[in-house]
Amino acid sequence: MVKQVVIESKKKIALIAHDNKKEDLMEWVKYNRGTLKQHELYATGTTGKLLERELGLEITNMESGPLGGDLQIGSLIADGIVDCLIFFWDPLEPQPHDPDVKALLRIAVVWNIPMACDRSTADFIISSPLMGREYMRKLPDYESYRQRLEHET
Ligand code: PGA
Repeated sequence: MVKQVVIESKKKIALIAHDNKKEDLMEWVKYNRGTLKQHELYATGTTGKLLERELGLEITNMESGPLGGDLQIGSLIADGIVDCLIFFWDPLEPQPHDPDVKALLRIAVVWNIPMACDRSTADFIISSPLMGREYMRKLPDYESYRQRLEHET
């Protein structure tokens, strides 16, 4: 049985960029500042500080990515708090926290939240009419997965 979870019209958006992608994200956020201000913003440490300092945005800041920030954002997704992810990760440089990056990308798919890993997709997401209204996010039946031990015994 498919379950549906509402994504409110005011989204909770997490913004993350690896170091070589920070400029790209700053530019994108600057361009879309007006739209982003209508939502609630979260970020990993350094990305968030830059966004606050350069663009004066109000951000809920996590730890820096390599210190656990990606995992904290992942946890917010699993808790149903963050419901949109803009994550400009660097495809050309290995990161010390590669396993955390993979975990975050995975958990965003587990919970079927909209996720952009490059600017084009971010442009498509931010300009979607769904950004300004409620959206019913479909989820597989994880309840039977949770109950699987009881079924086995
Ligand atoms: P940062 O983390 O915003 O603290 O740089 C980003 C990341 O590397 O995941």
